[in-house]
Amino acid sequence: MCYRRSCRRGFFGGGHDKKNVTLEDIAKGIREREYKRIVVMAGAGISTPSGIPDFRSPGSGLYNNLQKYNLPYAEAIFEINYFQYNPKPFFALAKELYPGNYRPNLTHYFIRLLHDKGQLLRMYTQNIDGLERMAGIPAKKLVEAHGTFATATCTVCLREFPGEDLRSDIMDGTVPHCSQCKGVIKPDIVFFGEQLPQNFFLYLTDFPMADLLIVMGTSLEVEPFASLSRAVRGSVSRLLINRDLVGPFAWGSSQHSDVAELGDVVSGVRKLANTLGWMPELEALMADESQKLRTRGTLTTVTELNCNERRIGSLI
Ligand SMILES: [Zn+2]
Repeated sequence: MCYRRSCRRGFFGGGHDKKNVTLEDIAKGIREREYKRIVVMAGAGISTPSGIPDFRSPGSGLYNNLQKYNLPYAEAIFEINYFQYNPKPFFALAKELYPGNYRPNLTHYFIRLLHDKGQLLRMYTQNIDGLERMAGIPAKKLVEAHGTFATATCTVCLREFPGEDLRSDIMDGTVPHCSQCKGVIKPDIVFFGEQLPQNFFLYLTDFPMADLLIVMGTSLEVEPFASLSRAVRGSVSRLLINRDLVGPFAWGSSQHSDVAELGDVVSGVRKLANTLGWMPELEALMADESQKLRTRGTLTTVTELNCNERRIGSLI
């Protein structure tokens, strides 16, 4: 098994006659549209370059910065029982993470470009920062495995709200309440012990159909998300772009022609984009979208008093 920082060999082809798959092979397959049903799995590592604290990194992790909320223990912020007792710490965190405070980076836009080219089957993300939507990846192409701030539900009468309805309360540091029953409205973030979003189960059809799996910026430690990396067909290549070898890439398997691009995630994605010859297009897309986000950011403050649904949908 190859542990070089930039590994150009497939890990698991040893002993077989088949040629080991390389990053160049994967790029060729994408460029020549051999891969048309690409599934992407992503975790916190794609959002840290946007400045979002990694929930799971000791020292720099969000959990270490929660002391000011006087939680009995850090994980309580995502526990439904604690939320019902005291929702304020969660909403303080929500204010920090609410869509609009951070911007997507090259990694998000690379996935958007895969979508624009009609080759993204689905993106499965563990992130709740909304940067995928902000990068223009349509909601129907996303499985937000740990939920989203884009929608919210009353904890008492279960009435559903657009996430944007909560924005002014959250930004003011006020706990949002239902206009019907006065219950607390909770963004549709998946708390510990809560059911996964219904569309998570798209994996049952997505993964067997996938012709390429790209795994990026995740420790593959949280189940059931982690197990998805093993749900593609045995002949399907898996590309890991990550700081470390994780999940099946670390354990080894003789079934797959896998490639790992280890190191900084943005650098790995940039290398893939360069190998594809997509960098100019990616940079143009980023420039365009950044300009749109700047314009929308300005308009948001103007239209807060007079929101309309269509704009809300595009903003969150
Ligand atoms: Zn209600």
